[in-house]
Amino acid sequence: MSDSNIKGLDFWQRTLMRIDRFVHTMRVTWGDVKCYACEQDIGPLCKCCAPDVYPIEEPCCERCGYPFGNSTQNPTSSPKKICYFCKKYGYGLDSLKSAVFFDGAAKKLVLNAKFRHRPNALRYLAEWMVERIHRDFPADAVLVPVPLSAKRKQERGYNQAEILARHLAFDWNLPIDTQTLYRAKHTQALSSSDTVLARRQIVAQAFSTRTDHFKNKTVILIDDVCTTSTTLTACALACKQAGARSVLALTATRGRRPWDSL
Ligand SMILES: [Zn+2]
Ligand SMILES: [Zn+2]
Repeated sequence: MSDSNIKGLDFWQRTLMRIDRFVHTMRVTWGDVKCYACEQDIGPLCKCCAPDVYPIEEPCCERCGYPFGNSTQNPTSSPKKICYFCKKYGYGLDSLKSAVFFDGAAKKLVLNAKFRHRPNALRYLAEWMVERIHRDFPADAVLVPVPLSAKRKQERGYNQAEILARHLAFDWNLPIDTQTLYRAKHTQALSSSDTVLARRQIVAQAFSTRTDHFKNKTVILIDDVCTTSTTLTACALACKQAGARSVLALTATRGRRPWDSL
């Protein structure tokens, strides 16, 4: 389909990405980059912040991607390795995987990238995703960053999920679509203190699609953080209504369940 929004990075986009990464590597070598988390010491992650990152280790629930660990109901008796919560309440995505917990230095990095105009911090998050998430996607997969409203994108100057998705499209050589899924209405910023029900009501109907380009495709939603997965579930619903065959999600960081402390 010639007018499809689904495209791989073209020659110039790949060339620009290579130049951008080369310049960044040089800046790191010269000690010209402050720690993306604490913004004090030499980065990209200083020696205090580097150990303050908590990777998500297998075994994880095959649906929601949350590690079983010690404090979550153990599923070892189940052949499909689905956690208690997914079994009991169902799950809106076909699968979700995340690289690290939304804690410590990773949390600071995400907040700096989103609210303190440090988009360069996103390269580090993308690196973690490429390192930790196994690239075994179907041939029809397309990366789709979770959209921001036009208003918020204008305020921030960029969509952090889109920057992450471009890095992943480069490293994994996958097509990307930033046009088809869009935020139909501007919703208030979600806060961790909102109840799950309140969050669902806020984002319900917030997303829609412009074309049928997702028909029979595997959509891989990309975002910086997943807390309750309400936003990702709302996106998944819109993609499925547009004919997507399956909807997976990959996020750089993952919020811990309230009872699952460090
Ligand atoms: Zn630091
Ligand atoms: Zn689960």
